[in-house]
Amino acid sequence: TAAAPETFDTRELQRLDSAHYLHPFTDHAALRARGARVIVRGDGIYLWDSEGKRIIDGMAGLWCVNVGYGRASIADAVHAQLLQLPFYNSFFNTTNVPALRLAALLAELSPGAAFQHVFFTGSGSEANDTVLRMVRRYWQLAGQPQRDILIGRRNGYHGSTVAAASLGGMAGMHAQGGLPIPGIHHIGQPSYAEGGRGMSEAAFGLAAAGWLEDKILELGPERVAAFIGEPVQGAGGVIIPPATYWPEIRRICDKYGILLVSDEVICGFGRLGRWFGCELMGFQPDLIAFAKGVTSGYVPLGGVLVGARVAQLLAEQGGEFQHGFTYSGHPAACAAALENIRILRAEGLVERVAQETGPYLKACFAALATHPLVGHAETCGLAAALTLVRGKGAGVHDCAPFAPQQAVGMLCRKHMFENGIIMRAVGERMIVAPPLSITTAQIDEMAERIRACLDLTL
Ligand code: PLP
Repeated sequence: TAAAPETFDTRELQRLDSAHYLHPFTDHAALRARGARVIVRGDGIYLWDSEGKRIIDGMAGLWCVNVGYGRASIADAVHAQLLQLPFYNSFFNTTNVPALRLAALLAELSPGAAFQHVFFTGSGSEANDTVLRMVRRYWQLAGQPQRDILIGRRNGYHGSTVAAASLGGMAGMHAQGGLPIPGIHHIGQPSYAEGGRGMSEAAFGLAAAGWLEDKILELGPERVAAFIGEPVQGAGGVIIPPATYWPEIRRICDKYGILLVSDEVICGFGRLGRWFGCELMGFQPDLIAFAKGVTSGYVPLGGVLVGARVAQLLAEQGGEFQHGFTYSGHPAACAAALENIRILRAEGLVERVAQETGPYLKACFAALATHPLVGHAETCGLAAALTLVRGKGAGVHDCAPFAPQQAVGMLCRKHMFENGIIMRAVGERMIVAPPLSITTAQIDEMAERIRACLDLTL
């Protein structure tokens, strides 16, 4: 006989949560008033809460559960590794088998197999802290230690540690704690809807890349070490740059000898229908930060893929790079990643995003854009945004926006949450980024539910 399903005392769990748990990025007074929803189980694209309600996870957790929930083979791989060797570090002339196998596999999967070295971290934030230290170390070794400035973008998100939050361009984060740290500057984000009025998308892409050159010239090219950006900005609201943007950014970096870093924490491991977002956007970076999708979030893991230019100095000639984490190359995390990547390959999930589910989501979102509340819809692979507007117009620049204080995005998100679908609201942009294992029938189910919640918001 089947075991009775586990039952949960939601009110007691909420009481404990409220009494003891400080949540990330949360207004606790507001949370106390409503009580946290307790998520207890996941399978495929679905979650269940402690009341037994089924929810479509339109955000793949936090853009990370790429192979979907409930993969027993990842659990088995981690279990076996924990029994074999739960932990050993690779600081002092040691290594471990899952970490070295994963490093070799990532080198093979990397764009053009051009990133033959990998530095492991425990998260995306640590990956970007590593980027900052690696870039500065590179320029020391290259005999130009004065090149210590990194340039990021407004509304870019690179994580929550001091260096990563400084590289990011979230004004709210900077305001709480004196960020950014010295030596970090920002340029605008390549949002055509926001800044491209009166221009073609192609012309806007070149103009937005030109802001980097302006900033380099303002700071002095001999002082600039690197530029960092997400191929498609995720937390900033799924900002998809025009096709002209990234190749022009690469050209500008090359012109001044500056390193280019692609933060692929969201875009990597298939989100955009390629293994890495830079492959879709048509540029080859010098460093790639990754996390999230490398293990589908089953176990924390991040890292930096290092191209030949940096590796030659850092690994071949550099002496000791005084940087690393206890959990760099954690055997169980690397075992999870190896099995996760095996699944992505065996099920052709990355190719499916490019050929089937990505185009299908695009068509569904184009249909949702006919809703009276939706000004425009943008998708790239399985990352998508609907912009809610007060009045529709013919083009992206002809819509009447809601005033921020109306908080329509938050209202819409509340309806979604209460009606069984998780979406993210970035201002008035409603975001989805579901597991890559989603089927077209499930995309239909998700789109129907989104439409119903838009009706409730109207
Ligand atoms: N970089 C990007 C592009 C991200 O989206 C995130 C997290 O959302 C991070 C870095 C930080 O990763 P983590 O939260 O694992 O530290």
